[in-house]
Amino acid sequence: MPEVETIRKDLSLNILGQKIKEVIVKDKKKIILHPQDLIGRSFVLVCRRGKLLYFSLSVNKDKTARLLKNKIKSSEKQKNIFSQYLLIHLRMTGQLIYQKGKDLLAGGHPFSKKSLNQAIGATLPNRFTRAIIIFSDGAKLFFNDIRRFGYLKLVSEKELQNSLIKFGIEPLTKEFTFNNFIKALAQRKTSIKAVLLNQNIISGIGNIYADESLFASGIRPNRQANSLTILEKKKLWQVINKIMAKAIKHRGTTFSNYVDSSGKKGNFSQLLQVYGRKNGACVNCGKILSKTRVAGRGTSYCQFCQK
Ligand SMILES: [Zn+2]
Repeated sequence: MPEVETIRKDLSLNILGQKIKEVIVKDKKKIILHPQDLIGRSFVLVCRRGKLLYFSLSVNKDKTARLLKNKIKSSEKQKNIFSQYLLIHLRMTGQLIYQKGKDLLAGGHPFSKKSLNQAIGATLPNRFTRAIIIFSDGAKLFFNDIRRFGYLKLVSEKELQNSLIKFGIEPLTKEFTFNNFIKALAQRKTSIKAVLLNQNIISGIGNIYADESLFASGIRPNRQANSLTILEKKKLWQVINKIMAKAIKHRGTTFSNYVDSSGKKGNFSQLLQVYGRKNGACVNCGKILSKTRVAGRGTSYCQFCQK
């Protein structure tokens, strides 16, 4: 989530109010929209829930005029025109890259850690590019995805609400109280890591932050969620808030050659304690970290510090 929040903030500073000139759809299965419905409009707000981004769109004047001319009175249809949203879900391997002149502003999942060019899969557009939104100021927004789990979809207010309702409590919001956290964990017989990753229970925690939070709270990722003691739950709840806040402050593990107005670059990668450090030494006890699979995901932990 910190990576998605970072790209949300970056895009908010750049694309709001810019007229959409052209939309190129390269993958019809995952890009569920008609370019005509976006052209001539602009984004008014960029919002986020968990790892889902949704962009609210300005009123489509041409379409409204046409409908009024045809005297279509269906209130539902009219409402749909006034409140439409572009949903963007990056899922496991999606990325968004905003390109203006020489500036590249990238967010989401890097394809490689070697260089920015390799991280975005070579010069844009490339074979992983699924859609391109071109703005009237010449800037382009690329949606790249290797495994094609991510998507872009134009939806109505009602469809948006139906998508948002599925999300569980989210760290750093007022709903994420200790009481609600305990309730979310109650009677869960799967591993604690699976619960943390389940977006319908707790939203916004991906693989990186699940491993980091469990390490910081001394809990083994494969522990059954309902076996945690009250003290362990308290510790875990505290570190989740702390780690997520710190990651957002440091722009997550975002990869980019872009430095924002305050000079910040994504640098949380350097602060990771366990994630991606397999065969490295534990920062606590100095012994070698272990790598395993929990909840279907690669998992790093310390078999000596985590119980
Ligand atoms: Zn250790």
